[in-house]
Amino acid sequence: MKREEKIILPEINLKLCNGCGICELVCSRQVIYLQNGIPKLIKPEACLFCANCEEACPTGAISIPFVISWEQSDFNPNDQKA
Ligand code: SF4
Ligand code: SF4
Repeated sequence: MKREEKIILPEINLKLCNGCGICELVCSRQVIYLQNGIPKLIKPEACLFCANCEEACPTGAISIPFVISWEQSDFNPNDQKA
């Protein structure tokens, strides 16, 4: 059985962002960097999905999507007999 790998990264809604820079301060992996007041994910591969940035953002601009991944199996519902 194989498990599908999905890349999940924090999403930043720039319409809600006020450029405070708190997300950059709380990120222990330096994933987020503010450039001209705009937060950017400069090292996405280093993200731990800890959600510190999401919890600390005062405007709710950051969200970490929750993704359900399905494990593949040999089960085929069409094989079921009534
Ligand atoms: S903490 Fe939120 S409001 Fe502040 S810069 Fe980061 S995304 Fe923008
Ligand atoms: S989830 Fe954690 S590691 Fe990833 S960007 Fe936010 S604070 Fe940094």
